[in-house]
Amino acid sequence: MIEIKDLHKSYKMGSNSLHVLKGLNFSIEKGELVAIMGSSGSGKSTLLNILGMLDEADSGEYILDGVPIKDLSETKAAQYRNKFLGFIFQSFNLINYKNAIENVALPLYYQRMPRKQRQEKALQYLERVGLKEWAHHLPNELSGGQKQRVAVARAMAAEPKVLLADELTGALDSKTSYEVMDLIQNINDEGNTILVVTHEEDIAQMCKRIVHLRDGVIEKDEKIEQVRASQYVQ
Ligand code: ADP
Ligand code: MG
Repeated sequence: MIEIKDLHKSYKMGSNSLHVLKGLNFSIEKGELVAIMGSSGSGKSTLLNILGMLDEADSGEYILDGVPIKDLSETKAAQYRNKFLGFIFQSFNLINYKNAIENVALPLYYQRMPRKQRQEKALQYLERVGLKEWAHHLPNELSGGQKQRVAVARAMAAEPKVLLADELTGALDSKTSYEVMDLIQNINDEGNTILVVTHEEDIAQMCKRIVHLRDGVIEKDEKIEQVRASQYVQ
């Protein structure tokens, strides 16, 4: 589903340049649930933004579902982003003056789906995340966990090939974080490919594979069974 080869990214600030990603290589198969782990400032969001086609790498290759992203025109890239990728952010990014169902229906509006159909579909996804009864409530009437569930429903409504989540539990207490991750696991069990960026070890451990980012390179890339086995030895 995702393949990156020797990916590099620097930020230029005046005459200085900060080399954040220093040659990353990995691939993600369809149906995986992968955590990108690393301390604050290690380049997790930088990587996720590149994978999400919100930013471009300086060099290296990114192949999404068989398509080399570099070769796409800007219009094509935007189409790919809308069709192939779903985003979930720490701060939910819901539209405050739209109720839950309208928020979920928004990507379907951009796909030019007729109104009745998008309302039906949005409600179906709200039900999927356990919020059918909250469909007509505004974001400020929802708890943090509920807001993130709406954001998950919105990301899924467009039926993307990959869900990208950046610190999706970062604004939630630990009980709510586990509940949201539980939902993420269930969605993954249905066959969805999901990438979770986090600096929290216990959140990463709810994924099936953990890729550790450190000093701009991949320090470790392990299946959860390997992670558990090495913890047991310690
Ligand atoms: P993480 O998500 O792991 O906390 P980021 O990818 O956000 O890390 O940032 C990695 C490094 O790049 C940090 O040192 C950060 O300050 C820097 N950085 C991030 N975005 C920019 C930007 N737009 N311009 C300049 N520096 C940036
Ligand atoms: Mg970040």
